[in-house]
Amino acid sequence: MNERSALVLLSGGQDSTVCLAWALERYDHVETVGFHYGQRHEIELAQRGVIREALAKLRNWGPRLGPDTMIALTELGRISETALTRDRAVAYEKSGLPNTFVPGRNLLFLTYAAAVAYRRGITTLVGGMCETDYSGYPDCRQTTMTAMREALSLGLDYPLEIETPLMHVDKAGTWAMAEELGGTALIDIVIEHSHTCYVGNRSQRHPWGYGCGTCPACELRAKGYAHWRG
Ligand code: ZN
Repeated sequence: MNERSALVLLSGGQDSTVCLAWALERYDHVETVGFHYGQRHEIELAQRGVIREALAKLRNWGPRLGPDTMIALTELGRISETALTRDRAVAYEKSGLPNTFVPGRNLLFLTYAAAVAYRRGITTLVGGMCETDYSGYPDCRQTTMTAMREALSLGLDYPLEIETPLMHVDKAGTWAMAEELGGTALIDIVIEHSHTCYVGNRSQRHPWGYGCGTCPACELRAKGYAHWRG
């Protein structure tokens, strides 16, 4: 077991990119895990390798960055019927949640990540879950994380920690955290390489990066950027 090591859930989006930088700054050894679950657009996943390579060139992070593990969870996409995995328009449902919500997605991700961490001798999972100004996904809340940490530690009989550095940070704060961690170089990596757009559009370059500019994820990212730039 190595208490100075962490496993980061890296999707290729803005939040998980900043989480990877956060972990590389704090831990001696950092590995990444990603999930393929039948996303309509492969762009976000394709950006993961680009982001890893780019972060490895910053500060003293290169030697700290360990291997990446990709896990296929295609059944999740098949049973979810959401706008992320099917050819449907992004919209809000009666529950108030956007139809991009994949039920229980983070619960599964954390369980698989815990299994990888156990095998790799890593005791800390790092994820970009956030309950501030987000879409209200219940599996991103602190209460869910606390319960998952407890369940996984008991179920694996292994002292697992779950770190969520963005839990109480809004989108402007995420940009500020990126600047604090890696300066302009990290801001540039987030803008050029991280992908958040639900529609998977990378043809339009905005000041805050690539995306359609109108889906809920783009709107949130653009708003946060504008707020951070003041
Ligand atoms: Zn978009």
